[in-house]
Parts: sequence; C-alpha cells; structure tokens
Amino acid sequence: MILYLVIPCYNEEEVLPETAGRLKEKIQNLISQGRITEKSRVVFVDDGSKDQTWKLIEELHKQNTLFSGVKLSRNRGHQNALMAGLYNVRGKADAVISLDADLQDDINAIDGFLDQYNEGCEVVYGVRSSRKKDSFFKKFTAEMFYKMMNLMGAEVVFNHADYRLLSSRALDALFEFKEVNLFLRGIVPMVGFRSGEVYYERNERFAGESKYPLKKMLSFAFEGITSLSIKPIRFIINMGIFMFFVSMLMLLYFLIRHFTGHTVSGWTSLIVSIWAIGGLQLLSIGVIGEYIGKVYLETKQRPRFIIDEFLHEQE
Ligand code: UDP
Ligand code: MG
Repeated sequence: MILYLVIPCYNEEEVLPETAGRLKEKIQNLISQGRITEKSRVVFVDDGSKDQTWKLIEELHKQNTLFSGVKLSRNRGHQNALMAGLYNVRGKADAVISLDADLQDDINAIDGFLDQYNEGCEVVYGVRSSRKKDSFFKKFTAEMFYKMMNLMGAEVVFNHADYRLLSSRALDALFEFKEVNLFLRGIVPMVGFRSGEVYYERNERFAGESKYPLKKMLSFAFEGITSLSIKPIRFIINMGIFMFFVSMLMLLYFLIRHFTGHTVSGWTSLIVSIWAIGGLQLLSIGVIGEYIGKVYLETKQRPRFIIDEFLHEQE
C-alpha cells in the first residue's frame, strides 16, 4: 500500500531537519518490512512561515524524492494547512496520516494505524493515553476543551487531536463537506465508516515552541462549537423561557403582597434584575450574532487556502 504522511508546518525551522530524519528512518523501516511501498511520501505543508521553513522543505525535496512540499500563499492556520495538504495528495495514496511537525505524537503508533487499516478500518484515531508530559495548564485546558465541546453538542473523540489515518475512501468523503470553516475533529466522525483507535503517549516538543498560544486555542474551541452545533442558540431559548417563568412568579408574588397590604420595599431586587436581564440579553444577542457572522462568511464561499507551489515527484 502507498502511505502518505501530511504535516502542517508553521515557522518550524528548528524542528524540521530532525523531524525529516526521524520520519525518513521510520518510512524506510516500514518499506523494508514490506508494510508500505516505495511510492510512499512525506508531505510538508508550509503554512506561510516567516522563517526558513520552505527553504528547508525545498532542500529536503531535492535530496530525496521521499519528501514533498506544498506551499500556501499565506498563513491560514493549522486546520486549513492540513486540508491543503490532504487536498493535494487525494487520489495518490491508499491512506494518509496527518501529524504535527514537532513529532509530539509518537510516530511508532503508525504501525498500529496500519494494523487497523489492514483490518478494514477507513479511519483510525490516534488517542493520547496520558498527558504526563504536558504542563498542568495545557492538560487542564485541553481536557476542559474536550468536555466543553461534547457538552455544547460537538461530538469529538476524547483526547484525539489531528493525528489520524484516513483511507482514500474516507478522504474523498471528507471533501464532500463543503463548508469553508472546517473543524476537522468534528467533521471526521461525521464521515462515518468503520473506525479504530490507537493509543500512544504524547511527548514534549523537542525544539521550538508551541504555535498554539491560549488565544488561538480559545478561538479554535469557539470555532469548533459554532461550526458544529446550534446548541448555544437552543440554550438561549431555554434561558429565555426560564426567565419569563421566573418573572411571572415574581409578578404573582408582588401582586399578592400588594393586595395583602405590604408595599414593595427597596430597589435592590429591581436593580439586580435589570442588570441580570440586560447582561443576559447582550450575551444572547452576541451568540446569535456569531452564528449570523458564520453564515455570512460561509455564503462568501472564499477558498480555504491558496497553493503557491507544489513540489512532488511520482514514479
Ligand atoms: N501550525 C500551522 N499553522 C499555524 C499554527 C500551527 O500549520 O498557524 C502547525 C505547527 O507547525 C505544528 C502543528 O500545527 O505542526 C501543531 O502546532 P503546535 O505543535 O505548535 O501545537 P501544540 O502541540 O502546542 O498544541
Ligand atoms: Mg505540538
């Protein structure tokens, strides 16, 4: 079988040489074991890096046809870079595995991916068995992320990031989803087919630093929720009904007090309700606004990515 690895890279000059070396070794092992053929490739996607990343990719390609490169016209973020890579290799491989340039996800799990593929799985999810090596903060925020996502109606596989195998069939199906704002972790489960899981330990970054600061992580989570479900809007409707119910009870209470001769005292309750209701209204309008914004962006049908160059050699 032909296996392609697709790797989004953003300012990864510090890790690329080492990553390329390790992947080359891994691929050669797999080839000598007869598990994959010589036509297998490692495809680096340069997501508009500002450093030497593309230069390094060009050099790697020159040295060895094992390495291919896709260059995006500008930085479009991890998800779009990954989609660009997958899009460029569709139809060329029997299966594609996506992974990060820093190799935090154990490449020895690839054997497990291939086992599951051979047993007939079209999608294989890499799942982190533990996060011992992540900082407390990263672990906490990441686990919160998966819980929040599921609560908000976006079904994602717990502790699975973007380390996964897709068969050519699953890949074709993925491109049937036409939305511009793609949240792969949510869309891949929707593709369906038989799927499997492989567990692995997540390592630390061996060089360079994370390209996912908290700000990007939060917007990623928000993106995920709003692009997969309308639960937040339902929540607002329920909240509205509940508030109306409470206000009716209050009305009843104050009417009874009025007719039994007690005048309403103090304005605390009044001012608190005004602020509470005002705040909730603003929040609700904001959430609805987000969705309208999303509809607006989707109707524009802007391209997900623009390819600048594609270095690829096929026998
Ligand atoms: N990445 C990308 N575009 C971006 C940000 C990140 O292609 O705008 C790539 C990055 O090069 C890496 C992967 O996405 O291969 C995951 O990023 P990182 O390892 O920094 O995230 P973390 O592991 O800290 O969550
Ligand atoms: Mg990383």
